Amino acid sequence: MNETQYKKQAGLYPMYVQVKPNSDADVYWRKKLTDAIDTTALAPGIKPSVSHNLVDHGGNKVPDMQFKNIYVNGLSSWIDSDRANIDTAISAAMTDSKLDSVVAQYFPAQKSQCTKLDSILVSDTAKRSRFGRADVKTLLGSIIEAGELKGIDLTKTIFNFLLPQGAVLFIDDTDTSDSTHGLGGYHGSLRQDDGTTSYYSVAVYSQTTANGENGIPAFDQPWKNVVATCYHELNEFRTDPDVESAIADNNNSLLGWTSSFGEEIGDFPIFEATALSQVFKELTLPTKLVVPVQLLYSNRDNGPELPN
Ligand SMILES: [Zn+2]
Repeated sequence: MNETQYKKQAGLYPMYVQVKPNSDADVYWRKKLTDAIDTTALAPGIKPSVSHNLVDHGGNKVPDMQFKNIYVNGLSSWIDSDRANIDTAISAAMTDSKLDSVVAQYFPAQKSQCTKLDSILVSDTAKRSRFGRADVKTLLGSIIEAGELKGIDLTKTIFNFLLPQGAVLFIDDTDTSDSTHGLGGYHGSLRQDDGTTSYYSVAVYSQTTANGENGIPAFDQPWKNVVATCYHELNEFRTDPDVESAIADNNNSLLGWTSSFGEEIGDFPIFEATALSQVFKELTLPTKLVVPVQLLYSNRDNGPELPN
């Protein structure tokens, strides 16, 4: 077998020499190794980054998941067309077979699927202009208490809170990186006194206004930014649902898939991109619907995969 054939069948080239750093031999061999990596499905402009591949820490995962969008009316109200656009796009993105195959590689033994439950509107009577983790959990707790989520299998469901226009998201009082400084959303879980755990995510209505940026305005319309954040968070729930418990209990064996640096499936693609447009993409699905998503980390590509 010659060298070209070896590269084609293996997808890597083994280095069997010792070379001095930065010498011509080093440059020659670096190129040989890099050229052998298959980058055909990697997002254009992004380099492979094997060291950020996701590792299974052994914790819970949710290959068969469902989600429920909870639109928060408070400081301002949601317009119907935004809600319709978000519901349609996130549902289509989460059930598209090509997009799903990126996530399905992390559940080799199980069937991955996603069901959208009916969305609801809730009133934030406190009309908060800032939401922290505690506020999101208070809202979720009150919806559960009101019986609105009765009958839903909490083990496989994420309640996805969508903040109204203008609302600022933060984590807790100790953090200074709120959504006016680049925070787009997060996910976690609520443990209740009766021992049940429910899962939530929260997304900023990301946009640029005269007051500056809120969230991650990557697309030309805020609803598209919301969908991209939801896509990121829903898939992180799927692959690493118990991250908040892992942190609270100081127990990393509760983690699902993260890189060895701690990044979840949606995280490194954004860190790595030199422009948001490299990983925030509007994709045309086989149904011709165009969906705005944020590309996810794919171990088989050693980076964010752009499904084709
Ligand atoms: Zn993330």
